[in-house]
Amino acid sequence: MRVLIVSDVHANLVAFDAVIEDAGSVEMIWSLGDIVGYGPEPNACIERLREFDHIAIPGNHDWGVLGKLDLSDFNAFARAANLWTRDQLTETSREYLESLPEVAVCGDFSMAHGSPRSPIWEYLLYADMAQPSFDFFETSVCFVGHTHVPVIFRDVRDTGAWPTLAIHEGVPFELDGRERYIINPGGVGQPRDGNPKASYAILDTTARRVTHHRVEYDIWITQGRILDLGLPASLANRLLWGR
Ligand code: ZN
Repeated sequence: MRVLIVSDVHANLVAFDAVIEDAGSVEMIWSLGDIVGYGPEPNACIERLREFDHIAIPGNHDWGVLGKLDLSDFNAFARAANLWTRDQLTETSREYLESLPEVAVCGDFSMAHGSPRSPIWEYLLYADMAQPSFDFFETSVCFVGHTHVPVIFRDVRDTGAWPTLAIHEGVPFELDGRERYIINPGGVGQPRDGNPKASYAILDTTARRVTHHRVEYDIWITQGRILDLGLPASLANRLLWGR
């Protein structure tokens, strides 16, 4: 099965559509959370995802919108956008977000927004942060999002080998059946690794290969929509820098 893996779409429909087009034919989309928050088109992004056979889990922004998290843990811009999103959300979108399971498993692959250990909130920024999480999922691979930074961590607790593996855009990474991995596809709607192109991954479940991809999209369209709607200007600016 060929799967498009996305995370942190963040209501950026232009970026999401660019990713879907660039990915080509896929059997499923797996969405790792934060489909809403920050961006201007929350309902449209949920509707787009639902056009596909898909698996989705919630992120901290999705839970924030549902009132399941205390927004005082969000920074001021994230909080403002989250409250705006809450007002915009249709009943259908709300019910859909409510229906999402905190974590998901499909075959030998798990999914959690932040980390397997603490799915909604924990950030796996560095390899040493990721190691304890290998005890919190059963499959060989867990896909995570939340940091908006593409990365591959491997379980090196027994070997002491180098824990972070290089990502070469467009070059398939072969999943070694003897190893376990935590893989972040990067962020679709608000990349934060200094590269403003939308980030995603393609998983071939049969060949056990993951390929990271980047695609340009019309950033200024999303920026214009953010400003027109009165959302914080910093949320438009950062898209240009990928920070
Ligand atoms: Zn996010």
